[in-house]
Amino acid sequence: MNTLIDTTLGTAHWVWRNITLDVPWSENYFWALTVLSVIVWGLEVCFPWRKHQARIRKDFWLDAFYMYFNFFIFSIVISGFYAVINQHLSELGLSTNSLALLDMSGWPLVSQLLVFFVLLDFLQWITHKTLHRFDILWRFHQVHHSIKEMGFAGHLRYHWMENIFYKPLKTLGVMLIGGFEPSQAFVVHFFTITIGHLNHSNIKLSYGPLKYLLNNPVMHLYHHAYHLPKEHRYGVNFGLTLSVWDYLFGSAYVPETSGEITIGYPNDNEMPKDFIKQLLHGFKKSF
Ligand SMILES: [Zn+2]
Ligand SMILES: [Zn+2]
Repeated sequence: MNTLIDTTLGTAHWVWRNITLDVPWSENYFWALTVLSVIVWGLEVCFPWRKHQARIRKDFWLDAFYMYFNFFIFSIVISGFYAVINQHLSELGLSTNSLALLDMSGWPLVSQLLVFFVLLDFLQWITHKTLHRFDILWRFHQVHHSIKEMGFAGHLRYHWMENIFYKPLKTLGVMLIGGFEPSQAFVVHFFTITIGHLNHSNIKLSYGPLKYLLNNPVMHLYHHAYHLPKEHRYGVNFGLTLSVWDYLFGSAYVPETSGEITIGYPNDNEMPKDFIKQLLHGFKKSF
């Protein structure tokens, strides 16, 4: 019980230290997310891809709230539970190093971060694909796909259960690489948030030949497409930061680049409009 309370309070304190700038800029998630959001929004306003889309698009404020909810408020709530699970796992003799396939402790930090980034991105690609493949998981992921106009803040509109679905494979990834300290990974996390914001933004970017490596707004728009090709009925373009997995495994699909497509999924009008009801969405079989 002490672990639960101490960790929850510790995370709340960490969030507060971020907000009050007691955490330096080089590792301050709150202000990094806020400044990045303002910059990407500014780019959307100055260089819009879909020119008819409002600057404050449909569900802008709901999605802005989701950003802070999923990133900070939910982290506070869940951190204590994760700490209790970790405590039980270590009592069973399962430490974070017990599955390590590599020992990176002597490696330069850049190489460690690169391995961490690529491994985690791949495991998240698998998780994302799984969310589309199984109805019981898809019902939760529908919250993200209920976006009807793409904009940067839509990036972090997702059901809180997704945080839990992504966790096991992410934890496994960290366990596979020994000698790595995830707290050093601010730069990796910030890079992935930047690419994720851009992927959902109303800016036409595909990074030239780097599109085969990096996910981008043109590619991710088709991930949200309402009409999917028959051979890809469970979805396309599952990449988070890297697009390379979709090109390697045959799920890449970018037929054209006008940006004018319908997004969503069949019956998406049944998605509740307010945040609280969306928190409960997915638990009812009727959806
Ligand atoms: Zn998806
Ligand atoms: Zn998306």
